[in-house]
Parts: sequence; structure tokens; C-alpha cells
Amino acid sequence: MRYSALKILKEGLTGNKGWTPAWREPEPKKSYDIIIVGAGGHGLATAYYLAKEHGLTNIAVLEKGWLGGGNVGRNTTIVRSNYLLPGNQPFYELSMKLWENLEQDFNYNAMVSQRGILNLCHSDPQRDAFARRGNGMIMSGADAELLDQDGVREMCPFLDFDNARFPITGGLLQKRGGTVRHDAVAWGFARGADERGVDIIQNCEVTGFDINNGVCTGVKTSRGDIKANKVAVCVAGSSGRVMAQAGMRLPIESHVLQAFVTEGLKPTIPGVITFGAGHFYVSQSDKGGLVFGGDIDGYNTYAQRGNLPVVEDVCEGGMAIMPMIGRARLLRTWGGIMDMSMDGSPFIDKTHVNGLYFNGGWCYGGFKATPASGWCYAHLLATGNPHETATQMRLDRFERGYMTDEKGQGAQPNLH
Ligand SMILES: Cc1cc2nc3c(=O)[nH]c(=O)nc-3n(C[C@H](O)[C@H](O)[C@H](O)COP(=O)(O)OP(=O)(O)OC[C@H]3O[C@@H](n4cnc5c(N)ncnc54)[C@H](O)[C@@H]3O)c2cc1C
Repeated sequence: MRYSALKILKEGLTGNKGWTPAWREPEPKKSYDIIIVGAGGHGLATAYYLAKEHGLTNIAVLEKGWLGGGNVGRNTTIVRSNYLLPGNQPFYELSMKLWENLEQDFNYNAMVSQRGILNLCHSDPQRDAFARRGNGMIMSGADAELLDQDGVREMCPFLDFDNARFPITGGLLQKRGGTVRHDAVAWGFARGADERGVDIIQNCEVTGFDINNGVCTGVKTSRGDIKANKVAVCVAGSSGRVMAQAGMRLPIESHVLQAFVTEGLKPTIPGVITFGAGHFYVSQSDKGGLVFGGDIDGYNTYAQRGNLPVVEDVCEGGMAIMPMIGRARLLRTWGGIMDMSMDGSPFIDKTHVNGLYFNGGWCYGGFKATPASGWCYAHLLATGNPHETATQMRLDRFERGYMTDEKGQGAQPNLH
């Protein structure tokens, strides 16, 4: 069924009786060409692009809970391509371009809102680093503007420019950055994949892999064994646990990240704003709530809830740049499990087991990567070769000494 203004009008005039479910609830078949483990944003996008771009439809997406119940429905919805390194920038710019055409492509309102993202800087060296990053972005085809203090003041007069510890001296602006309605992304990809024949099977946990003589021939699930020529794991925060079932230990740790939403306010914030001297970022949702977050809690966990010291730390970051946030009442907080890699960059790769593929290590930036991740994982699964923008997202990069360390933090997953 195609969604359109005409369809809404017709249904409105005829009692809304013609809407059909957005996807089916199929029973698992005995075998598939490709099984994707995890119906988060990346798994669903992979299924969608496999079907749409490569004509492969004998595919199942297996989800242990409900579709979109993981990080794709828990994140703070920010999209951007303001990366520096050649291993990352072209990939995130590909994602940005896919976001820009996504709603027309999958015929679903994902509320793509390119209101801009502004990274604040607070010192001269930081301004130099932003200038370098901006130049790197422009060289790979993205947009970037360096603002001085007056430029930032014009956009965001409510910021605390004269804070004694963290004076705001300027910022790096990417106007094409912004926000996208997170769960609508999962629903749109799911609907598009289902429409093309992909089976999305919810409440079906993968509990093991069938691996014989170094070849993966299927998975064990809570709903029975299912055979497949290729198995593509895509489980974000559960990566370590799931790949351990295949005997693999990943260069990934799981950490919790919290998000916060205030009561609805009048339009206040033009786009996304990030603090440059601590970890705090904020945007305003279409319903008016200020949506903000900060650092991970900093210890390994699989629990989807965080602790008060980080709540305090995030709120301090907010107060340092925009004291007016202290008057907003907090409505909701929650947590999600981040698959933090050792260098802060992701993996889209084959494994040493034939037929077993891995996608993960997205840290807290994987939402913006959703379309490109699906696009590149589908390319790898269909052709056997990495996509040209994802050639450095290999599992063996640490062994070879090729870290993609965007922040220059070293092998410290809790610092990326
Ligand atoms: C609070 C918070 C804020 C964030 N903010 C941003 C942001 O602003 N911008 C940004 O770019 N990124 C952000 N992120 C990161 C982003 O959400 C994630 O990197 C991304 O969503 C991960 O990919 P996914 O959508 O495929 O993951 P998920 O939605 O978590 O999908 C993985 C799925 O695998 C399923 N699964 C796990 N184990 C199994 C199993 N054994 N069998 C079957 N299924 C299984 C899970 O149930 C889950 O549905 C944020 C994350 C959090 C938690």
C-alpha cells in the first residue's frame, strides 16, 4: 500500500477501513538465503537494501524482542556527517545523502529535519581543530561552516557566552545535519523490506550458530533451528554476547548511555547544539521537549538503565552552556546499551567463519549511520566485497595497526 495525502483523504472520508498492517507476522521457514540477526535500524536497513538494490528477497530478519525495541528506538535522533578521518567521512556523508532522500525512497514519513548541528568551541586550539575537521568535511563533499562568536550569538542568543570556565568562542556548523524520528526509521525500513518479501520474525531469539568445519550453515533460535547460506549479525549492544556463541571475542565493550527529555516548550533551539568542553548535546523535538544526553556511564554492563552521577554530569554540562535549561522539568530518562569499539569506529566485515558476517561497534553514533550501514552491509553480503566507503571497517584493523581513531583517544572504549 502506498501512503500519500490522497490516500489519507480517501481513508478519512471512508471510515479509515482500508489501512492494512505495515508488515506481516510470518512463521519462520526452514531455510533462507540470508538470515539477519537483529531487527534494529541496521538490520532492517540491510534487509531493505538487499531486497531493493540487489533483488535478494529470500531473507529473514530475526528479532529477540519487538522490532525497534533496541537502540534504534532509544537514541537522541541526531544525524550528521561531521567526521574527519578518511575511513569515516565518506561513509557518513553517504549516510547523509541517503537520509536526504529516504522518505521518498521508502514512502514513509521519518520526519527528516535538517535544522543543522552546531559544535561549540571554547578555546583557540579547539577552533583550529574544528577548522581542520571542517576542511576535511568539505574536501569529501560535505558542508561545513566555521562560525565566530558573533555568528553563534546570532543563531543561539540564549547561550552563556561569558561563562568564566567555558567561554564560547565560536563553533563548527553543519547545516545539513539535524534529527530524524528514530522509530519511524525502523518502521519505514521494516515496511519496505516486508513489502518486497523479507520475513521479519519478532520474538525469535538467536541462541547459537550451526558451524561445521569453519562454515556457518544456520542458526539455533528460541523458535527452532533455521538454515541459511549466509548469517549476518547486527545486534548492536548485544554484539559481544551473540558473537561469543560463535566462539568469537570482539574488540568491543558494552556500556550504557542515557537520554533525557523535558516537558514541551515553545520553539527555543534552532537545531542540535553540542558542548565542546564536556559531554552534553541538546536538540528540541517536534513535540517541544528538549532532548539531551552526554557521556556513557563508563562501566561494562548490559542493563538498559543508568545511574545518577552521570545524570548530574550531563546536567552540569547543560547548565554550563545554557543556564535556562535549569528551569525546564525533566519528563523521562532511559538507557541503551552501546557497542563501544576500541577506536570508536564501527565494523562491517566477514568473519573468519565462512558465511558468518558481522556489523557492530557503532558506539553512540550508530543512528546517523543507519542507511549507509544497511547499504554497505547489503553490498558486502550480496557481492562478497566491502563497499568502497567501508573498506577500513575491518575486524582485523587492530592486528594490522590501522585504527580509525577519530578522537585520538587510543584503545579506550569508554573515552570515544
Ligand atoms: C541514549 C542513546 C542515545 C543515542 N543517540 C544517538 C544519536 O543522537 N545519534 C546517533 O547517530 N546515534 C545515537 N545512538 C546510537 C544508536 O542508537 C545506535 O548506535 C544504533 O541504533 C545501533 O544500531 P541498531 O539500530 O541496529 O541497534 P538496535 O536497535 O539495538 O538493534 C539490535 C537488535 O538486535 C536484537 N538482538 C539482540 N540480541 C539478539 C539475539 N540473540 N537474537 C535476535 N535479536 C537480537 C535487539 O533486541 C535489537 O532489537 C544513541 C544510543 C542511545 C542508547
